[in-house]
Amino acid sequence: MSLISFPAALETGHPADTLRWAADQFGLDRLVVTASFEDAVLVHLAATAVPGIEIVLLDTQYLFAETKWFVDELAKKLDLNLHIIHPLSNIQPDNLWQSDLEGCCNVRKVEPLERALAGNRAWVTGVRRADGPTRANAPVASFDIGRNIVKLNPLAAYSDDDMALYVQLHDLPANPLTERGYPSIGCWPCTRPVAAGQDKRGGRWVGSAKTECGLHL
Ligand code: SF4
Repeated sequence: MSLISFPAALETGHPADTLRWAADQFGLDRLVVTASFEDAVLVHLAATAVPGIEIVLLDTQYLFAETKWFVDELAKKLDLNLHIIHPLSNIQPDNLWQSDLEGCCNVRKVEPLERALAGNRAWVTGVRRADGPTRANAPVASFDIGRNIVKLNPLAAYSDDDMALYVQLHDLPANPLTERGYPSIGCWPCTRPVAAGQDKRGGRWVGSAKTECGLHL
């Protein structure tokens, strides 16, 4: 499995072609999309290119109310095959994020992701190179050795303008937080709005050196 080679065309093709290729290659029942619902592009693209594809939301117990509303709206509007994965039953809302960001992300994001990926052969994400420096070299297709799964970032080459155009062309709604200065949206304790022109992920984990939650390292 780790020796899999990817068609060169995936790097330059349309994101929808990447999703269709993945469904053909790995099967609809072995393919999963994880979405943060920061915007509607990834889920719209996935659900229209591969109807019925499984879309997972990791509910950390700290999602913004606006994000929860947006998830419900898109699930209805796009008839998503949506699965919400929660932390293990012994994990309850607590103050861990105040003292141990890594520990909090581990039990609320990383461990639930492992369960979401279990049994699948390919994982589709919304990672884009334009997200920021830590993602600047993200490939469209790679093999995540640590998780033993093919990782696909069909939107890797999409610029912010490409995203805006996609939303406009398909008349998609926006997460209400976007117009309030949140270009990157995660958990409410760890996400702040940023000023226009600032690093899009600059509002995440403000005051710490942390830049990624551990899903895409
Ligand atoms: S982003 Fe913050 S609140 Fe969310 S899981 Fe990570 S540390 Fe916890």
